[in-house]
Amino acid sequence: MPDETTVTLLTPVGRGALATIAIEGEQAVSLVKQLFQPASTVPLETISLEQIVFGNWSHLDGRREEVVVCRQADSRVEIHCHGGRAAAESMLSSLAMRGARRRDESEWIRAHAADPIEAAARLALSQARTERVAAVLLDQYQGALRRTLIEVGQRYEKGDLESSRKLLARLDDLGRLGQRLTSPWRIVCAGPPNVGKSSLVNAILGFERAIVLDQPGTTRDLVVAQTAIDGWPVELSDTAGLHQADDPIECEGVARAQDEMGRADLVVLVFDATQPLRSTHQEQLKRWPQALVVANKCDLCPGPPDVSWKQAGRDPLFTSALVGDGIEQLMAALITRLIPSVPHRGEAVPFTVEQCQTIEQVRSLYASGDATAAAAQLSRLL
Ligand code: GDP
Repeated sequence: MPDETTVTLLTPVGRGALATIAIEGEQAVSLVKQLFQPASTVPLETISLEQIVFGNWSHLDGRREEVVVCRQADSRVEIHCHGGRAAAESMLSSLAMRGARRRDESEWIRAHAADPIEAAARLALSQARTERVAAVLLDQYQGALRRTLIEVGQRYEKGDLESSRKLLARLDDLGRLGQRLTSPWRIVCAGPPNVGKSSLVNAILGFERAIVLDQPGTTRDLVVAQTAIDGWPVELSDTAGLHQADDPIECEGVARAQDEMGRADLVVLVFDATQPLRSTHQEQLKRWPQALVVANKCDLCPGPPDVSWKQAGRDPLFTSALVGDGIEQLMAALITRLIPSVPHRGEAVPFTVEQCQTIEQVRSLYASGDATAAAAQLSRLL
């Protein structure tokens, strides 16, 4: 609709000192004028573009709020108001009541982005939890992925099949990391009761959060905490102990733990380093062949570990959640397992499911020699 006026909250959801609202469309200025009273007597439409104007906003309930308004074009006005959710929501409602259509952030981004990758990167950036993740996404926003995808097509067309294939393989590889940039990697700590799972999670988090008690089976429910290791966002779950439980609530806890382990990016199986491995523990090791194995409470066994550890054929990491031994190594091992390949600065990283699936399809289309279909798939991303 060409003469439609829209209103969009541009600042991401969450707390902030300021909120920014964009009003766009032919009626933008006249709509704002109905609700905004400048401190000076100069009419808004006569003030030069990009000049900020201080004044009062009239909310629907009659309240007034001090805001800053900026006319950026004849059909675009930005309002900067208090950053609290309620304040921004009230501004949006007052504009919607006067006929503006509310647009969500993603619609606004898609309408203003130069290409689909830039739009997706901008959206993903608003969900980035760490600077490290934001830096990778910013590279994609600035065109790293787009340039590489164009390069893939050009190299193939020139007959440089091998280097085109290599670029795609690297993209495929980094896509696993890319898809985790907007939601943390999930690490689940599991193992028998009382071996120090909660204590290890606490040691990693650096604060007392999980329940630590001497009675086996105390941690009945999943305790989930988010943190960042080496700048990568992770979610740590500390599960109920894996053991034969009679109490129905504990049984439920054990079942949930197994379920959670199945969905994790990485399972950490924790055992007590002072104890020999029992057959039930061996079963767990067999059941979770990819798990990182940790033998905790090594402060209590300064001598060599029990021979059963060697026999199990899985090199454990020895830790002491109590005194901190091996915690740094454990954190490094977690990251090495989760992120075997780190992108360098400015490198292309696909970061949405759609991008990764399309890259996979392009790879197999090139492999089968169908360059036309591959080019069509590539252009869908661009
Ligand atoms: P979980 O049931 O596996 O989560 O075990 P907890 O973390 O609740 O710990 C059970 C008990 O072992 C608590 O008394 C902890 O203080 C103790 N504990 C945990 N880790 C260590 C450790 O590395 N060394 C020693 N000596 N005790 C530990």
